[in-house]
Amino acid sequence: MKRTNILAICGFGATGLFSSCTEQVQKQARPNIIFIMSDDHAYQAISAYSDKLVQTPNIDRIARQGVLFRNAFVTNSICGPSRAVILTGKYSHINGFKDNSGRFNGEQPTLPKILKDNGYVTAIVGKWHLESEPTGFDYWDILPSQGHYYNPGFINMGRDTVYKGYVTDIITDRAIDWIKKNRSKPFFMMLHNKAPHRNWMPPIKYLKEFNDVHFPLPKNFYDDYKGRVALQLQKITVGKHMSVTYDSKVPCDTCIEDPVNKWAPGEWEAEYGRLTKEEKLAWEKGMESETIEFSKIKNKDDLAKWQFQRYMEDYLRCIKSVDDNVGKVLDMLKETGLDKNTIVIYTSDQGFYLGEHSLFDKRFMYEESLRTPLMVYSPNSKSAGKVNTDFVMNLDIAPTLLDFAGIKIPVDMQGASIKPFVNGETISDWRKEVYYHYYEKSFGLTRHYGIRTDKYKLIHFYNPVDTWELYDLQTDPSEMNNIADFPDRQDIVKELKIRLKDLQVKYKDEMEE
Ligand code: CA
Repeated sequence: MKRTNILAICGFGATGLFSSCTEQVQKQARPNIIFIMSDDHAYQAISAYSDKLVQTPNIDRIARQGVLFRNAFVTNSICGPSRAVILTGKYSHINGFKDNSGRFNGEQPTLPKILKDNGYVTAIVGKWHLESEPTGFDYWDILPSQGHYYNPGFINMGRDTVYKGYVTDIITDRAIDWIKKNRSKPFFMMLHNKAPHRNWMPPIKYLKEFNDVHFPLPKNFYDDYKGRVALQLQKITVGKHMSVTYDSKVPCDTCIEDPVNKWAPGEWEAEYGRLTKEEKLAWEKGMESETIEFSKIKNKDDLAKWQFQRYMEDYLRCIKSVDDNVGKVLDMLKETGLDKNTIVIYTSDQGFYLGEHSLFDKRFMYEESLRTPLMVYSPNSKSAGKVNTDFVMNLDIAPTLLDFAGIKIPVDMQGASIKPFVNGETISDWRKEVYYHYYEKSFGLTRHYGIRTDKYKLIHFYNPVDTWELYDLQTDPSEMNNIADFPDRQDIVKELKIRLKDLQVKYKDEMEE
């Protein structure tokens, strides 16, 4: 190993070389960092959090050897904005990337830039989704925009290219390849999966996985949205807003698409068109039973239930492949000995609804998309297998990784280091509440901001509708009863509004309603 060699050379060192050797050894001792982030991976679909839906033995290894965070939240539950928050350690209104129509300003200070300036070699492979070219990376090999599942195009250091194969395998293999070639310096690798983002196209080897499994509907699948106007306006429900062709991947000439999905049939043609002749044959064979089931559907409720089953099957088939590939990374680290000096993080850019409130997407401040999976392995930590319940956020990732690297955290970063939690320690005066602000109005969404404490969640929907929602998370964890207008709750509404305002001042979020 190169690391051992340097130590050995320094040990025998000529006196004149001593100081540079010491410096080199110090740099070498800095941990490598592998940041694995999947796109739209719900914590409900990781067995370290809940084993009701799927087994993820490899992702669970990170939790077992590291720390699992049960209360990890995002500031703005949608792909691009979450990535910008992670890169900058700042809220969307500060880093400038508020919704997916944005373009990230790569001139601003970012985590990879700071690591690079301090001697790290930096790389990103996979989903980027920030439109501007990556900055601060020695190597980048990214999917353009959302990217594709099969035989995907990539932009490799500015050059358009197409790789043969399945996207999750390609991203992992290319990231491993880069790590093996760049391990002589401390490295920072952002391995960003496209999966399991919509339209949830599984690899061919898993097309028959879960065929014998019946996934029960979440208990609030038939939510009537009473007292919650913003939910009544959204267009992201399993029953009404999933496309039979694009989402469930079954041919249907007579299906009428909801207007929100008018692009879906054409998009399916384009996605399916990327498969090779052999892949198409295997795909058709793999999807035979789904096509037969669809032909037996008689009414709208049957259709909604079938769409839910199809959604769960394909989503979890994608997860199986993500888990396999996480296993490849962990095995490589062990085989090379890099596991002794490499921090490994697994997370998602946000949470995701798996049929709760009948939804299939993210965006809302309700629990399933506000929370994100987060687990951190640190080789020197004595807290293997611990579960942490402090309120941590994606805002904290940049400060945390700088802390692990022994680099001063810029004062204008709005998150804080959770390194002590990873080491099994406590942090005095840690945050007791989370501030959230979502902006994008596509799919019938309403802009909203809110505060979440351990007991309550207060949300203000403000554009286009203007409504308040309050939930008692201890008595109503599924957030079905909006109690914002209840006379006996006005004291708590008043108190939370003050705390919410304080958070907006703290995070410099000037409202432009
Ligand atoms: Ca996402």
